[in-house]
Amino acid sequence: MRSIQPYPHPVLGTCKAISIENDRLDSMDSGVRARSAEEINKLSPKEIRQIVHHAGIVGMGGASFPTHIKLNPPRKVHTLIVNIAECEPYLTGDSQLTVEKTGQLIDGIGLIGQCLPDLQTVIIAIEDNKPEAIEAIRKAVKGTPYTLSILKTQYPQGGEKQLIKKILNVEVPRAKLPFDVGVNVQNVSTVLAVYDAVYLGKPLYERVVTVSGRCLSNPKNLLCRIGTPVKNLIRHCGPLSAEPAKIIIGGPMMGIAQYTDEVPVIKSTTGVVLLDEREARPLEEKPCIRCGACVRECPMNLAPCLINQASVHGSWKQAKELGCLDCIECGLCNYVCPSSRQLVQSIKRAKPEAR
Ligand code: SF4
Ligand code: SF4
Repeated sequence: MRSIQPYPHPVLGTCKAISIENDRLDSMDSGVRARSAEEINKLSPKEIRQIVHHAGIVGMGGASFPTHIKLNPPRKVHTLIVNIAECEPYLTGDSQLTVEKTGQLIDGIGLIGQCLPDLQTVIIAIEDNKPEAIEAIRKAVKGTPYTLSILKTQYPQGGEKQLIKKILNVEVPRAKLPFDVGVNVQNVSTVLAVYDAVYLGKPLYERVVTVSGRCLSNPKNLLCRIGTPVKNLIRHCGPLSAEPAKIIIGGPMMGIAQYTDEVPVIKSTTGVVLLDEREARPLEEKPCIRCGACVRECPMNLAPCLINQASVHGSWKQAKELGCLDCIECGLCNYVCPSSRQLVQSIKRAKPEAR
């Protein structure tokens, strides 16, 4: 270890980071070993969860919720949905992984099934704009009890609650989680990380990141070590065709704008998107005209215009009553608002106060 000191963080702004000395050997720890299929079949749910825990696996679709906890639900889970919806524009890492690692994905699903003893149904959900990944999955699920669900491309449907509604027509009630309706949703990258940990003994130290945007001449999906500064990824995909006006970590709709390109890749970094001047231009906020577009489009059935009013006036109790904590921060309300109201920003501001 070299030091522990404050460092830019893509979500927190700044946080303490451990800087480690690189021995340049790029070798695995001597304790890391692969397991045979026979050994894996004998693993109990508790043992699998422990391996997943020690490998440091969290939800890699963006939420970063610890996977070993999600694999130990307090209620019976009958359905597993493997999420390859990847509905945000620009992001393609999950679908590429699906094409390249279909066999490992199927084995990873088997491991998750071992942890969920009441599981009856496995559905692999993918949007219809990913023909190569659909073909790969279609072939891989032949002879398995798994079902492929091809969804019409639509934003936002990659969120857990949206996916459950879309596929099973079941509403997850306000302030409840998928296990409350007997469902477990796992992102494809997370399933593959579980495979790597259990079959190969590999901790979660790298992930696929989509590096894209109009300013880049060579957009790519890159397999990156956690901790790599995003400026290195940008350099690798350059040269730049225009100076980026905004660097977003995540997709352009739900991602977070960064103040520096020194921020590192973390376990939840799905993408690095560089927006040009035109895409990033801030729009002038005008008064709400009560058109109701934000209410019509909100996938969580919220009234963003009313939460916005409550937030602007610092009425946190009212914002909570209006359901600000249920907002999935998809940004759709901002997108449809003819008055360019900063709705999602004000909802984000209300959330910590409401909590
Ligand atoms: S960001 Fe807006 S549209 Fe999306 S869930 Fe929140 S309030 Fe609804
Ligand atoms: S979309 Fe914009 S203008 Fe229309 S009701 Fe919502 S906040 Fe008001």
